[in-house]
Amino acid sequence: MQDVIRLLPDSLANQIAAGEVVQRPASVVKELLENSIDAQATQIQLIIKDAGKTLIQVIDDGIGMSETDARMSFERHATSKIKTQEDLFSIMTMGFRGEALASIAAVAQVEMRTRREIDDLGTQIIIEGSELKTQSKINCPKGTSIAVKNLFFNVPARRNFLKSNPVETKHIIDEFQRVALAFPEVAFRMYHNEEEIYNLSKGKLAQRIIGIFGKNYREGLIPCQEETPLLKVKGYIGKPELAKKTRGEQFFFVNNRFIKHAYLHHAVLTCYQDLLPKEHIPFYVIFLEIEPQHIDINVHPTKTEIKFDDEKAIYAILQATVRKALGSVQNNLDFEEK
Ligand code: ADP
Ligand code: MG
Repeated sequence: MQDVIRLLPDSLANQIAAGEVVQRPASVVKELLENSIDAQATQIQLIIKDAGKTLIQVIDDGIGMSETDARMSFERHATSKIKTQEDLFSIMTMGFRGEALASIAAVAQVEMRTRREIDDLGTQIIIEGSELKTQSKINCPKGTSIAVKNLFFNVPARRNFLKSNPVETKHIIDEFQRVALAFPEVAFRMYHNEEEIYNLSKGKLAQRIIGIFGKNYREGLIPCQEETPLLKVKGYIGKPELAKKTRGEQFFFVNNRFIKHAYLHHAVLTCYQDLLPKEHIPFYVIFLEIEPQHIDINVHPTKTEIKFDDEKAIYAILQATVRKALGSVQNNLDFEEK
């Protein structure tokens, strides 16, 4: 009998890997925005058409890439962000797997333009379904623009599986909000079908929250802050009036990375006991800073889950911080009433 095992061609391997990284247009938005952040952009534009199904474009003014790097960036496991195994335990960037661009280019038509400050000419690369179509020198502004067209054009099953435009748009806006909240010092704009959805100038966190959720949040924000040897906590929690019955305005960031964490959410919820009408969920945007060696962000490819090595201690610190912040507001109210 003949041997039967063979290595898959790169394009097929990339397409299979893409299944994990690129689930829907919002996954592309997340990866591109995070790449722009890692490239030290100060201004980022997100342009989408048809809920991202026909176009997702991110334009940044970051460091750009050399011609060779521009081509390399589409290879699987190609990254500028980590070099050694040790680096994996002290990750300071949003990305590190070197999978996103390879995965996106496997399941879409991608046009990249990029230029570093030191280069006179930039590079344009067009890739469709992992296949390089053109690579050329062009005039373009400093930074990087990546346009992702017709997502899943070559994976009909996936394309058909996409939800309605309002649902996919909602997912995109969720991702946009998470990145925009985590980096208030970066200016963001978002356009959908040529209509401006957000225009967020750079500023402080409170300004960013108001820019995203509206002016009526201005009066409702309570600052919270704590510093212990294990953990720094800062951010805003909402006065009980900002609580809603629907989820979606609860944000935890660990070292600037958005995470979901039921246990820590519970720590915050317990502080609002008796203050909220039934089934209401409080608003919060809380940043936790912790030494990278105390967490493992390598648990899930889309990285919204995280493991802490001492969850109970973090729960207790967070709960005490939120309780104190809420308490100071309650005391003031009591005082005013008297
Ligand atoms: P990762 O972000 O995990 O490194 P990606 O596939 O997302 O992997 O990107 C591959 C590489 O391409 C990055 O490590 C970075 O060097 C480069 N890159 C991607 N996007 C940009 C960008 N907007 N500006 C500059 N460089 C970028
Ligand atoms: Mg990346």
